[in-house]
Amino acid sequence: MSRFLVDRLQSLAPYVPGEQPQDQQYVKLNTNESPFPPSPRVVEALNRQIISRLNLYPDPLAKVLCQSIADTYALSPENVFVGNGSDEVLAFAFMAYGDAKGFAYPEPSYGFYKVFARLFSLPRDPIPLNEDFTLPAEKFCNLRKPIAIANPNAPTSLAMPLSDIEKILRTNADSVVLIDEAYIDFGGETCLPLLAKYPNLLIVRTYSKSRSLAGGRLGYALASPEIIDDLNRVKNSFNPYSINSLTLLAGIESMRDTAYFNECVGGIVAQREQSAADLRALGFTVLDSASNFLFAAPPRITGEAYYKGLKAKGVLVRYFNDPVMRNYVRISVGSAAQMRTLLTKTKELLEEATV
Ligand code: PMP
Repeated sequence: MSRFLVDRLQSLAPYVPGEQPQDQQYVKLNTNESPFPPSPRVVEALNRQIISRLNLYPDPLAKVLCQSIADTYALSPENVFVGNGSDEVLAFAFMAYGDAKGFAYPEPSYGFYKVFARLFSLPRDPIPLNEDFTLPAEKFCNLRKPIAIANPNAPTSLAMPLSDIEKILRTNADSVVLIDEAYIDFGGETCLPLLAKYPNLLIVRTYSKSRSLAGGRLGYALASPEIIDDLNRVKNSFNPYSINSLTLLAGIESMRDTAYFNECVGGIVAQREQSAADLRALGFTVLDSASNFLFAAPPRITGEAYYKGLKAKGVLVRYFNDPVMRNYVRISVGSAAQMRTLLTKTKELLEEATV
């Protein structure tokens, strides 16, 4: 840190992304990426003339991309905003709606909510989850301040009922309620049907998980035209070209390839159920996942010991150094081969722990 950094930013505790070690090849199950490549349509489109057109700026309005997202969800393009990963969309929302009342969010949940609140000097209002990691919906009612909730939640993998979300929207009618649906394609009920009824609803989604485009950095928001206009105001005051030409095209082709999307999501959901059953058979506690990862506690050893033991055997999962989650790790659902390796290494570790 230099001595020039403003006071306000000196106490930042930046978001810590999952580790990306380069020292050896790992079976990487720590950042909830898809094990499948992007749609063949994406790959084909990017091989065509687009690369020779990188001398030109991309469309700052991302019109064709917004139209293809709108078509997919039977909305109008005025209901769609796109950003450089959903992290950027979330950041713009915190900028747009965070004021002296701050932001409320559950804890544990996605770590960036806290980081953005700090970055934008907002009062933080973390609301603890219940002991079983479900969300105490009643504590989010009548808050009269902006709210951010991930559904399904991360890293717990649990989805909440639509009726709870509706209660929160209804009782906070004068505040924006942001529902982060990064994992909704893998389970849970989307709150998309509530969009027409609640002008305070802001849905945020990503291409990083179910659309195999984590490296493309593309996220989007679905909301009333007025909220979309707010997000565009912030974006156009910061970086009007936040999505590059390659990613724009990738996003359009990916949205159009419904068959490939369904095949990948179906494969991951089936693998998730198989892996959850395998781990339970070994004595693990595994929460009912509606996402592309498992939140699981091993028998006999701590989450940290399990994480470290797996890493030494070449398998990366995510451990959160937090008292509430100390028994658990988060395991991304990988390919069948990756999950077989996880299971084999897990059995070895549990045997080693017994002797
Ligand atoms: N929301 C949640 C709940 C997440 O887990 C993630 C992934 N880390 C994101 C948003 C951000 O995803 P991305 O920026 O890759 O779209």
